[in-house]
Amino acid sequence: MTTVGVLALQGDVREHLHTLESLGVAAAPVKTPDELGAIDALVIPGGESTTIGKMAVRFGLIEPLRRSIEDGLPTYGTCAGLILLAGAVTDGDQPLLGVLDVVARRNAFGRQNESFESALEVHGLEEPFHAVFIRAPWVEKVGADVEVLADIDEHPVMVRQGKILATSFHPELTGDARIHQLLIDLI
Ligand code: GLN
Repeated sequence: MTTVGVLALQGDVREHLHTLESLGVAAAPVKTPDELGAIDALVIPGGESTTIGKMAVRFGLIEPLRRSIEDGLPTYGTCAGLILLAGAVTDGDQPLLGVLDVVARRNAFGRQNESFESALEVHGLEEPFHAVFIRAPWVEKVGADVEVLADIDEHPVMVRQGKILATSFHPELTGDARIHQLLIDLI
């Protein structure tokens, strides 16, 4: 059976597990390199990217994550997960996996827009996606191999590079599993 792991260091792990189970796959929290080795795809949830990064260092997961993703493990990062996948952030210094060729701007929408919702046109989905943004990043720069699948005012908020998918928003909060399905389709 297909098993999708959810990196379970910090953040909204449970909501992703439920969304994945609703699609008929097995969903498992991942905290160790062994657990990482036993999955067919991975979700890196939202939360606080500095915390998730520090814990990944402490749990010895940075290198195993980097290697698995570079070896082709289909991976989907939401919000803080997008930041963790990125090659760089516009400011500050924090542990990153550097597997997705983008520069991310943290908390990019500013204080007025700390959290907001939007009916987002997503490339490849027929109907707009009800997207929830919470202290969300946007993608400031994309590399040549990165495809932009959705944007807000020309700021990319959903991108794909090979088997890596990332969104600034939180599809696990709305009961719409279409983006999780896109991850499963990459397996
Ligand atoms: N602002 C958070 C960060 O920089 C991300 C917020 C989220 O994941 N909802 O890591």
